Amino acid sequence: MNFVFKIKNVRIFSGIQPTGRLHIGNYFGAIKNMVALQDRGDCPKDGTSTIFSIVDLHAITVKYEPKEFQQKIKDTVLDFLACGIDPEKSIVFLQSQVKEHTELAWLLNAVTSIGELQRMTQFKDKSEKAESVSAGLFNYPVLMAADILLYDTDAVPVGNDQKQHLEFTKNIIRRFNNQFGETFKDIELIIPEIGARIMSLKDPSRKMSKSEPEGCVFITDTPLEITKKIKSAVTDTDRSISFDPKTRPEVSSLISLYSLCENKKLEQLELDKFDGHASFKDVLAESLIKKLEPIRQKREELEKDEVLIENILKNGQKKASQIANQKIKQVKKVMGLI
Ligand code: ATP
Ligand code: MG
Repeated sequence: MNFVFKIKNVRIFSGIQPTGRLHIGNYFGAIKNMVALQDRGDCPKDGTSTIFSIVDLHAITVKYEPKEFQQKIKDTVLDFLACGIDPEKSIVFLQSQVKEHTELAWLLNAVTSIGELQRMTQFKDKSEKAESVSAGLFNYPVLMAADILLYDTDAVPVGNDQKQHLEFTKNIIRRFNNQFGETFKDIELIIPEIGARIMSLKDPSRKMSKSEPEGCVFITDTPLEITKKIKSAVTDTDRSISFDPKTRPEVSSLISLYSLCENKKLEQLELDKFDGHASFKDVLAESLIKKLEPIRQKREELEKDEVLIENILKNGQKKASQIANQKIKQVKKVMGLI
């Protein structure tokens, strides 16, 4: 993966919610780029240019089980590491352990319009399914903007579903800088060409989501589970295997996965060799198993180290706080709050 930036010493930030085990949408949409970005050649080796957060304060905006929350956080860190996020190269930390996130979110509320928040599709989508809708869910994009802006971030690797939230963040930057003077840098989105929106295997009109586990292939699923899930993935009645996301979203999402696992462009996939969905699904399942096996094995190894996560998060908290603390001071000063 080649990333071309107009400036030097680019700072990257991205977050993942501890709302469940990571799935292949999270992996291909965001984490794969996060890993590639921490390994790029021009990256300064001081370990502060890629910052990845487990965003637990976002996860509590929907219904969750407090007793299981610590385990979910640990699982997310382990999944992160298994995918190749390296705490030696990147800051890996828990959002709630750096108090400046909530502080900046409140300050940014001052330049946020309710109308804009009401237009957010993630809010509409998640509140439709919820029994009761929290103010936290409504304000989610403001906290997300704070996450990004606390670290003078230049670029944010995410899946397609976060595009609207990042446009919202850009608006906040513009409005804040206009009102209080140049304080925040503009941000760039890093969204993959293929894999930016992997669809649910059960309902291909919806994206794959941790909070809807029935439609997910998790990065740590066993070969048997992967095969079962791919075989029962919803497809249409046309037997041919062709890529057309508009008219055939189900099979097109599966073809994207095949392309990603094989590291081949769509036109290199020779799709006409498949004589129906069953034979294509068999090959795709094999391909996914091969791609995910090293991740699953690494995850099993990492699980054996009892103190690993605690140390990583402690270290991450220290490094992230140092940066965040400087930034919040600057923001408060320009806002006249000292
Ligand atoms: P939840 O259902 O709790 O919102 P999620 O699966 O959407 O979970 P998030 O933690 O919200 O995961 O998002 C983490 C990252 O993964 C974001 O960058 C997001 O854009 C990306 N992502 C999430 N789902 C997909 C998907 N289906 N395809 C591609 N990228 C995705
Ligand atoms: Mg999400």
